[in-house]
Amino acid sequence: MLKNEFNNNASSIKEAINNDRLVVFAGAGVSKDSGIPLWNELQEGIRERLNEETSEVDPLKIAQLLYNEKGEKEYNDILKKLLFEKQDSPNQLHEILFELNPQHIITTNYDHHFESIINDHGLPFSIVSKDEDLPYASQKKLLIKYHGDFENHNIVLKENDYLEFSKNHTLKEVFVKSLFSNKVILFVGYSVSDPNLKLLIREIQYLLKKHHQRAYMLTSKEEVNATEIRYFESLGINIVIADKDLVKSQEKKNSKLSEIGLKAYKTLLHIRDFKVYDYRSADAGIKPNNSKIIDELYNSLARFHYIRVLPQKNLAGLYPIYKNAKQEPGYLVLDTSLKVFNEDLYQLISEYKGKDDDNFSDDEKEKLNYSLSRIAMSGIHTIGHAGNIDSMGSYPIKDEMDFHKKINYSSCDCIDCTLNDYDYSTALNKIFKYNIDDKTSLWDDLIYFYGLYRTKDFYNCFLALRNIIVKANRLKKMEVSFLAKYNLKQLKWLIRNDFLNDRINWKDIQDIEKQIDKIDLDEELDKAKYFVDEDLYSFLKEVRDGVYIQRLCNEIDEIFVKVPKTVESIEKGGSHSSNVFGNLYNSVSLLKEFLEGNFLLGNGFSPIQYTLNKSINSFVLGYYLKNFAGIKKHSFLGFGLAHITEFDTFLFKLIVENSNHKELVQILAKNKIKNIQIGKKSSGQITSKINNFLKSSYKIPKYFGKEPVEDRTLTSTIVQNRSLREHMIEKINGILIVMSYFDLNEHALKTIYSNLNHYINFVGIGDENYSYLTRFYKRKFEFIDETELVKTLDLFDGQSIINDAYMSILDALRKKNKNFTRDIPIDNYDLNKHSPGFSTIFKILPPEKKKDFKKILKTKLVEEMDGQMFYISISNKVLATQEIKTHYKKLISKKLELNMGDSDVDDSFVLFRIKQFFDLVNKGLIDTKGIDVKSISEERFRFLLNPERFSQQNFRTDWLKYFNWDSYCERYAKLEYIILALERSLESEFDEKLSRVYFKMKKWIK
Ligand SMILES: [Zn+2]
Repeated sequence: MLKNEFNNNASSIKEAINNDRLVVFAGAGVSKDSGIPLWNELQEGIRERLNEETSEVDPLKIAQLLYNEKGEKEYNDILKKLLFEKQDSPNQLHEILFELNPQHIITTNYDHHFESIINDHGLPFSIVSKDEDLPYASQKKLLIKYHGDFENHNIVLKENDYLEFSKNHTLKEVFVKSLFSNKVILFVGYSVSDPNLKLLIREIQYLLKKHHQRAYMLTSKEEVNATEIRYFESLGINIVIADKDLVKSQEKKNSKLSEIGLKAYKTLLHIRDFKVYDYRSADAGIKPNNSKIIDELYNSLARFHYIRVLPQKNLAGLYPIYKNAKQEPGYLVLDTSLKVFNEDLYQLISEYKGKDDDNFSDDEKEKLNYSLSRIAMSGIHTIGHAGNIDSMGSYPIKDEMDFHKKINYSSCDCIDCTLNDYDYSTALNKIFKYNIDDKTSLWDDLIYFYGLYRTKDFYNCFLALRNIIVKANRLKKMEVSFLAKYNLKQLKWLIRNDFLNDRINWKDIQDIEKQIDKIDLDEELDKAKYFVDEDLYSFLKEVRDGVYIQRLCNEIDEIFVKVPKTVESIEKGGSHSSNVFGNLYNSVSLLKEFLEGNFLLGNGFSPIQYTLNKSINSFVLGYYLKNFAGIKKHSFLGFGLAHITEFDTFLFKLIVENSNHKELVQILAKNKIKNIQIGKKSSGQITSKINNFLKSSYKIPKYFGKEPVEDRTLTSTIVQNRSLREHMIEKINGILIVMSYFDLNEHALKTIYSNLNHYINFVGIGDENYSYLTRFYKRKFEFIDETELVKTLDLFDGQSIINDAYMSILDALRKKNKNFTRDIPIDNYDLNKHSPGFSTIFKILPPEKKKDFKKILKTKLVEEMDGQMFYISISNKVLATQEIKTHYKKLISKKLELNMGDSDVDDSFVLFRIKQFFDLVNKGLIDTKGIDVKSISEERFRFLLNPERFSQQNFRTDWLKYFNWDSYCERYAKLEYIILALERSLESEFDEKLSRVYFKMKKWIK
């Protein structure tokens, strides 16, 4: 954009628009293209209607003559006819004046075109035609009909009207004049000879002079001469003459506007879209040197210092990135590539070689590094330049470069980075020591508050945000103040947790909620507007409206819906070349980074959390599709298959922080996913994060011994803060899922496991059965040394815990070493509760303990008469004496006497017990002596008792659907009538379950 007087004026007017200080005066020229006559045309019309010719030239006096001659009624009728006889609908000039978002529009016209736009579009304007309207206006924005209208019988047109104006329109006059002292006025549609304008200027001359440079008049060059321009300028009115090139550059597009109208329209359009920041930064046509470009880039991005992650569209629209662009910013980011039209900028970045580049000064390198890392943080991976326009009318992106290599990421030990590394104990220590005061930087304050939020200390988070607001206001960092208020609003839903945790009392909670409710974000945004530039403002508005976050959530949801179809089509052998998972990855990381990078709170229950969780399920399916990647028929002409080959640190974090563990484990199991591959670079990062997390539980004492001791920083904090405790439980279980299903190498798993032992010891895992830990043993026990597993058992014993995890360790130890024995505190053990059951315990006990165990078991069996316990006891030969068997038979006899409805083979509890019993019978581990066949009413139970002698006509093949364990099949395979019945049944009607039984039986048929 060329620097010249016209653009200077446009820039000042646009600035007034941005600051909500523009007032528009609309004259006859605005309505002309809607068929309303201009002043001189109206004057001619009146002159023609006069009975006598007059030499009078003053238009007001001519109107007065008509009135004197015709009287009020006829005068009004003639005027209405003259004004409205050719009236048409509102035109584009009326519309664009609203688009300038003025505070008020003041019109000296008598028509209703502005009103009809307000009514048709429901714009927030109150209409003021007479004084009485002013105090009753319900909207802040006003349309003032300065010269009244016919409906209110108060039009101001003839000489007397003007003489009596102050008397009849006192309030309006005072109000409008007051605007000249504190607003920026833009006159549109007035010619220099317009009597209205002349009168108005006469009235306000002293005001204009006092506050000069605040009024602008739009005009076309043809109608003003240099003397007139100087005259208006002496009054304090800047004449804005439309730029010749601008008017020429845009062609006329089926507009009903006249040539002059179109000129005015294009000028207003130019003002509406004017970029003040870009213009102020731009140089007048001189080719900028590197140092200048770096400054421009740095200064532009540094405006967003407290906002690290921008929506990509906003980033692409920033000067000088957007300089010379021929497309809207929304089209400049393709996936993760940024397309720049600013060739100087592109050349500079491609020449820059990073921190060791001697062609740049240290200051320049520092600024470039800052700028490039900010661009990278907004999710841009490569930068390319725009090629020539192609036949499709778009500009292809060329020569994309990976600028990330040029960024020097220095390590940082701030609270935020420490928490990102999962080092909780260090982070908590830093948080405890921190205090917001005059010496701390606003940046560190923000990191501190976000650390409190991430460690679930909501009350202190509230206090910190309040301090940040005070400090930001004082420093005039209104963007920080606004975002802090936005976060306070979000915090309202979280802070009640602190009451539930007994951390603050009810009265304090109510006070806090009242304080939060008082914040009106719309009002705050309005206030911020006067302190931030338009780019920052549009970002804040984006946050306020939540449009960007919503858009990302929608994108993720859409892909989530698409994924099952992709999976199905690939499973069936179809090919799929879309980048569905790549797109999902981008959207999810943009969403997560946008919130975390900008210190934004997501409240506890939110659709964002839900969306992130869903995305994890899609990623798992994407990984599942990897199975199909190698098969030739799935690739087509070199297009890639839609799938995920490996997980990385980001997906690891997503799983640990945002997954619903239950659902995740289900979907992993359903798709038989075992060892998820991890990218080379991520493997080390993931291992170190997990180890940091686990190490938060302990420290190695400096002076006494080397045995780890509890680190009270974390452990005492979670005693006081239940929300943090739950958070840690969620995370450790997420980590356990990763340990169970990810392909971490043996060495990594071993170091992690020894840290895990300390974590279990000092912090614990949460749920009673340690179900995710149990899962880990079942899947990965072979990687863990016997001694480490035994250490875990020692820990459990020390805490008198015997749960599923404990049992899984025993199982794992037996599998590793079948001679493994251990003295287990059997008094703590609930015989009936844990899988894989007490037989495992029994096997592991040293011989002298086995006797005690049998004694306990016998008492229990006789007391509780529990079928499951009998079954385990006899089948595993823990306790199988005649006495025990007799008790068991007595129990089963009673169950066999029940009539359960012979027709339905259901999977009831009772039936299952019977099934277990006959499993032992079939295996020869127990006999049926003593069970009285006459007391059994159901045929199928009689069959179970003695299949060899069963009456063949009464046999029903359906029974085999349920009695189908190996021991059953082996026994029945020897009975010809069963085989025949089964074959006949399958021939007449195929049944999948029965066919499986049949094939199983075939193993034993000779
Ligand atoms: Zn940091």
